[in-house]
Amino acid sequence: MNENETLCKNCNCIECRCKNLGIINRRHDYLTNVFDTNNMCNYFGIMDTDYSKYTVSLVRADHFIYRLTIKKLNVYNPLTTYIRELPRDMNNLIYSYLSDANFIMKINILLPNIYPFASPVWTVLSYVKNGKSQNALDETRRARCLLMHSSPAMTLDKEILYYTSGLLS
Ligand SMILES: [Zn+2]
Repeated sequence: MNENETLCKNCNCIECRCKNLGIINRRHDYLTNVFDTNNMCNYFGIMDTDYSKYTVSLVRADHFIYRLTIKKLNVYNPLTTYIRELPRDMNNLIYSYLSDANFIMKINILLPNIYPFASPVWTVLSYVKNGKSQNALDETRRARCLLMHSSPAMTLDKEILYYTSGLLS
């Protein structure tokens, strides 16, 4: 049997997922209409503070794959608030309270064969916290456990909001 005979030209899948692709495309159009995919923070109501800057971006990498990046970066500049009259130790202590953890997280979201009747499969590709690499497998397990559902009413943006708000709280 020729392999090309079983591969659908539209969705590039051996097991044709064109019916799902229609639903996925409609949902994708909805997402891109309601928020800026470069940064969903405004849509989610996540505001930057004097010390932290947030970015949540979503890129559709393939018909059935999304890439999600969640960033929390410190924009705090210790040079501008260093208190000369205090010893360095005290300044460091103050700084430790002012500065929160930074992190950058990259996540792959795969839409399964029967999407939206099964939950998307989240895989944390990399998780760097305060410049140090964290265990991506542990975070993948945590995310999958948190987001396990099988309701077609759950849209990608709600899932991302649920996960992100857990990270930032
Ligand atoms: Zn197909």
